[in-house]
Amino acid sequence: MRRFISMLVALIMLTGISAYALDTDLYYEGSYHAYNAEDIYLEINGNRLKTKEMPPIAINGRTLVPVREVFEYLGDEVTWVQNTNQVLIDHGNKTLVLTLGSRDIYMGSSKYSIPSTDPAPMAINSKTMVPIRVTADLLGYEVGWDADTRTVTLDEPGSGSTDDPDEDDSKKDENNADTVSDPKDITRIGLSTNGSTDLVYLACDSPVEPTIYRYDSPERVVLDFNGAQLTAGYSNDSFENGNIIKEVRAANHDSMARLVLDVKSQPNIEIMRSATGIVIIASAASGGYTTKINDLKNGAIYDPDNYSIPVKPDTNTETNDSSVSLDTTGTVDTTSSNSFDYNAVVIDPGHGGSDPGAISGGVKEKDVTLAISLLVRDKLEAAGYNVTMTREGDTYPTLEERVVIASEKNNGKIPAIFVSIHCNSFDTSTANGTQVYYHPDSKYGTILAENIYNANVANTPLKAGQVHDGSTLYVVRKTIQPAALVETAFLSNDSDRAYLVSKEGQEALAQGIYEGIVKTMNVMKGNN
Ligand code: ZN
Repeated sequence: MRRFISMLVALIMLTGISAYALDTDLYYEGSYHAYNAEDIYLEINGNRLKTKEMPPIAINGRTLVPVREVFEYLGDEVTWVQNTNQVLIDHGNKTLVLTLGSRDIYMGSSKYSIPSTDPAPMAINSKTMVPIRVTADLLGYEVGWDADTRTVTLDEPGSGSTDDPDEDDSKKDENNADTVSDPKDITRIGLSTNGSTDLVYLACDSPVEPTIYRYDSPERVVLDFNGAQLTAGYSNDSFENGNIIKEVRAANHDSMARLVLDVKSQPNIEIMRSATGIVIIASAASGGYTTKINDLKNGAIYDPDNYSIPVKPDTNTETNDSSVSLDTTGTVDTTSSNSFDYNAVVIDPGHGGSDPGAISGGVKEKDVTLAISLLVRDKLEAAGYNVTMTREGDTYPTLEERVVIASEKNNGKIPAIFVSIHCNSFDTSTANGTQVYYHPDSKYGTILAENIYNANVANTPLKAGQVHDGSTLYVVRKTIQPAALVETAFLSNDSDRAYLVSKEGQEALAQGIYEGIVKTMNVMKGNN
């Protein structure tokens, strides 16, 4: 099972749909729904768009579309915010915020309501689907419906509207150039507590990226923002009733701003990073703590006007850098590096040691993932590849350690491909099939996921699931080489489980993963 995935997503990875001829049930709002409406087509600026992962769906006579595919096709930026189950659509200078299961849509400081006749945005078969008419209307598109051909049309508004394409371009250029020029200003620090979670908000004038350190005696989390400065007179909350955080201190250092969170004990830290700020989410860790950074390309998730913050500047400095115990300097997935060894692969058997992963019918995920991983290793080695294993026995490397292992250089180069191998699990035993996760920002990671998925579908009797956006998965996000996470099949399904523990099943899955790796490696070699 993936470790960092919300229940919501875990609940909805079910039947795969690859063609418009829907012959399968839809899973949403917690149950299956029979679906047999006629196909609906999309025509955008006069071009027919055939969405890949979900077709347009009609519910109560209203059309929902896969938000990412449709609005990215239109040139908008679409961002999924896992913590809040929200999707942000950034269109020129407008940002629309939709929430799964909610009829409220926010745009800037305005709130709109989806009519009660229309369905709310929802996850259908794991894809975020939004009601097209109200969403596109708010963004300023012209929306039409041709009943004869069952086609939804979407068109850019004519000239003279509020959407100025030149403005979009200049904004993009600005974002691309954010590595030069003046220090980035941090203007405000806000704090709040939400249930058992503490949140720290920073408002910034351009994207900032933290380097995170953990210290003990006393326990604290330090976040350094290189190239950023707290502005004179920046606002800083006082914080007295945090569940996790006792105090927040901030100060400017040579060429960076430093934020120190004094904590009761080391928490899990998750960071949502956007162009206008970051949100630091601290929650209680059970056992080892975790650290996650999520980039939100255009998400205006920090709204300083919703917080009234008393001024409390703090000039404390933090000098004890020698006691760094963990450096999680971001190594966000990139394929631009030419320091890859195209003859080397990292295989990551999921879980292990104290972490059994999913357990079903007496079978532990950690044992299955290791068995398949070792077979993949043997096949790769037989073909002349160097293989690095994150574990070869019943041990538990942390996720951070797996990424460190994956980044180790040999003769100055790191393995060009990383594959993490898992088994899936679900509350209902009917869920079954094979899936692969990738990071959408990684070109070859996406190709890798598709190649492994296609080979597994071809080589096994498992039901075809899908390739999925796995950008929330730590090892997919943090590895610096193209990566994929394979959910081979469902341990919680009797038939899948029997296959997963069989020699034949393990061999076939290993063969598929091997074929997907080699095919992708050949593409990468050819292009580099
Ligand atoms: Zn797993």
